[in-house]
Amino acid sequence: MKVIIAGGGIGGLVTALCLERAGIEARIFESAAEIRPLGVGINLLPHSVRILTALGLDAQLAATGIETAELIYFNKFGQLIWREPRGRAAGYTWPQYSIHRGRLQMLLYDTVRERLGDGAVQTGCHLDSFVERGAQVEATFVKRVNGRATGEIVAVESGDVLIGADGIHSRVRHHFYPDEKEPQFSGKVLRRGVIEGEPYLTGRSMFMAGYANRKFVAYPIDVAVAARGRSLINWVADVQVGDAYSGTPRDWNRQVEKNVVLPYFDTWHFDWLNIPQLIESAAAIYEFPMIDRDPVERWSFGRVTLLGDAAHPMYPIGSNGASQAILDAPALVEALTTEADVVRALQRYEQERLQPTARIVLSNRQQGPEECMQLVEERAPNGFTNLHDVISPAELEEIAGRYKQIAGFSREALNAKS
Ligand SMILES: Cc1cc2nc3c(=O)[nH]c(=O)nc-3n(C[C@H](O)[C@H](O)[C@H](O)COP(=O)(O)OP(=O)(O)OC[C@H]3O[C@@H](n4cnc5c(N)ncnc54)[C@H](O)[C@@H]3O)c2cc1C
Repeated sequence: MKVIIAGGGIGGLVTALCLERAGIEARIFESAAEIRPLGVGINLLPHSVRILTALGLDAQLAATGIETAELIYFNKFGQLIWREPRGRAAGYTWPQYSIHRGRLQMLLYDTVRERLGDGAVQTGCHLDSFVERGAQVEATFVKRVNGRATGEIVAVESGDVLIGADGIHSRVRHHFYPDEKEPQFSGKVLRRGVIEGEPYLTGRSMFMAGYANRKFVAYPIDVAVAARGRSLINWVADVQVGDAYSGTPRDWNRQVEKNVVLPYFDTWHFDWLNIPQLIESAAAIYEFPMIDRDPVERWSFGRVTLLGDAAHPMYPIGSNGASQAILDAPALVEALTTEADVVRALQRYEQERLQPTARIVLSNRQQGPEECMQLVEERAPNGFTNLHDVISPAELEEIAGRYKQIAGFSREALNAKS
């Protein structure tokens, strides 16, 4: 069996590694001319680290990412709302990592080339169209220059299966849903930066401060910098701008000036961290609108299916974007190896993954586990003397536990898996 994967992002690369493990031939076609370490920080939850560990990548992950020890929510004054241990500190068998997205992608890319051969990933190949011919699907790839397809055909490839792992603007998804609207803009814009600075809290703490319409998130992402007694801190400023946002291109590499972000957080000097200073110190700030798409009813059509952001683009809340793309991969490969008929295998994969991921997409629109910050803001906009006069421990527990169930990383259920 031969599988064609459109998209060499985290979802596509992990899928290729899972296929290789199962003895199935895989070829990746990536639109970008070159795979470069783009992006800033992301989180890998224990359920996705379990998959990467099974692929033999545990040592490499530990050599780059920070093993997240805790997740903490604060109000906009830096007052503590909720603190929970994370990863192994919380009793999971597998760690949670905060990691540089680009480095993770390069690690996966290098591993794919090492295990599948140099020719397994073909860059500069943008999927343009595909057609099923008997028991094969034929995909045509064109060259893109400056984000625009030139029409020049650079590859035509046939295989038993085509996987659209081509991200939120998926061509494969568009083929099956030609009338689907552009991704929905939430009214919020994320601005992100990375700085090297003094470690804060445990040096392995991920925190969120603020409330639904104005939130600041930070976590350290580099174990080598931590070994020098410093922290490479990834931060995300998440602000409701509504119509004030001009709707500029949804490009992960778009940069903005500091003064676009600073005014929203200029008074956020906590006694344990100076937020304006984090913003001031960033060498570059990247902007991306918070967008997602409504869940669709089907991913699998004959010999073609969707995976990762192409299947379930979601707001980057609850650390789930990359993790869910990684979880799709073994589900798909398991179906392909146990079901004799390819079309039925793709349907089975869809049955297993579509509903769970749709629930996360919808939950993230309701702020997922961050709901507690909004409740505290509504009930105590000027801060509080005693947190539990504002929100009870039971309510806090319930919000945190509910999201873990939805996102599939409840500790007992996960640890029970080998
Ligand atoms: C450049 C970049 C930077 C990012 N930075 C961050 C970040 O800092 N923080 C964060 O939380 N998330 C970031 N993301 C998104 C995050 O990686 C995804 O949400 C998540 O990892 C799911 O991965 P995915 O493989 O499904 O999608 P993506 O990571 O989006 O990967 C999709 C891949 O498909 C390729 N592609 C698109 N169309 C075609 C086509 N027609 N034919 C062939 N290939 C195609 C893209 O170039 C891309 O490499 C970034 C994504 C990209 C592409």
